[in-house]
Amino acid sequence: MDKPPHFRLAGVPVRIEPFFLIVIVVLGVGAFQGVFLFSWVVIATVSVLVHEMGHALAFKAFGIQPSVVLYGLGGLTTGRGELSPGRSVVVSLAGPLSTLVLFGLPTIAYAGSVPHDRATGIVLEQLLFVNVGWAILNLLPVLPLDGGNVFASLVEMVVKGKGRLVGNVVSIGFAGLAAIWASQAPERFPLMILAGFVAVMNIAELAQRRSEPAIGPNGQLAEAQRALVARRPDLAEHLARGVLATRTDPSTAAWAAELVAWARLWAGDLATASQVASAMPGGSQPSRAFQGAYSLAAGDRVGGVAVLAWSFVHEPSTPAKLFAAMVAARAGAVGEIVNELLLLDPVHGRNAATELQQLLAYAGFPHQAAEVGAMLTGYLGPTHPPSAVPDPWHHTRP
Ligand SMILES: [Zn+2]
Repeated sequence: MDKPPHFRLAGVPVRIEPFFLIVIVVLGVGAFQGVFLFSWVVIATVSVLVHEMGHALAFKAFGIQPSVVLYGLGGLTTGRGELSPGRSVVVSLAGPLSTLVLFGLPTIAYAGSVPHDRATGIVLEQLLFVNVGWAILNLLPVLPLDGGNVFASLVEMVVKGKGRLVGNVVSIGFAGLAAIWASQAPERFPLMILAGFVAVMNIAELAQRRSEPAIGPNGQLAEAQRALVARRPDLAEHLARGVLATRTDPSTAAWAAELVAWARLWAGDLATASQVASAMPGGSQPSRAFQGAYSLAAGDRVGGVAVLAWSFVHEPSTPAKLFAAMVAARAGAVGEIVNELLLLDPVHGRNAATELQQLLAYAGFPHQAAEVGAMLTGYLGPTHPPSAVPDPWHHTRP
């Protein structure tokens, strides 16, 4: 841990970032007021802390000194040292199982057997949501959740060197199924965002693995794309032109040319960008995402916003959309695009806006991503976290 711990628990240094508490309050504020908001914050904080302590004490049992940080959407337990796949399974399970066993099961037993008033019922509901709902969610075989790490470690024990890869693929499958299920009802929208993040993370990890050797034109183009995301248009153009100089298949050459155009567009050289885009190999056309971003950069705000909104709804997910999101963010046009998307088509427009939000977060525009999130939430009305996970309490209520 880079920053000093706030306290030590059972010999484990613990740090609680203010942002963690902010996120917990924001999650609870739509659903609870007054004393129940307070109980929500206490229950959620203690539960996440106990979850992380479960991981930490398992680390210690294997002779590795851990540290715990609570931040953002959850906690992080880190330990210096390598774990065998078998021990990694134990460490991963120790988190969700500790809250389930210490708080979740006793709450289920109590709620089912002892009569209680409405106020107690709300607190019991909070205890179940956090200690049973989150624990079960966490055990799904989806990376980066604990269950995903368990699954990857188990695969690793059977097929050495393939655990993480299989874990990524299974996670993308799960995220896809979850997104389909979430798209059936507006109140499942938070799950949709979560599924999107899971998919983007796992796809990015797969892509990184694929391009690690960086051999051949596709590896070089992947590197060019990363350079552009890292705001290094010169390097991106150099790499893309390197691919153009070799004999590759027409679609690779076309994408390499578009990358050169994107690099020039990002660098502010609109004349060259337009020249490259209008003379693509094989007479192909640049993506609509590029055309929209170009219009925006050239000062045609209305036209650019319209074309980009169309692109986000209709064009397939390619890095072109990622670059378009970057250009839109820099031009301060994200809000206008989201407005246009929501006007265009409430269903596909909302999905497209979610994708835009994820791309902005990925490309290092967290404020613009948050702006999109706020616009989407406002569009749907307030969302209540306890409805996002099936709540077993409702079945035991007398
Ligand atoms: Zn965990």
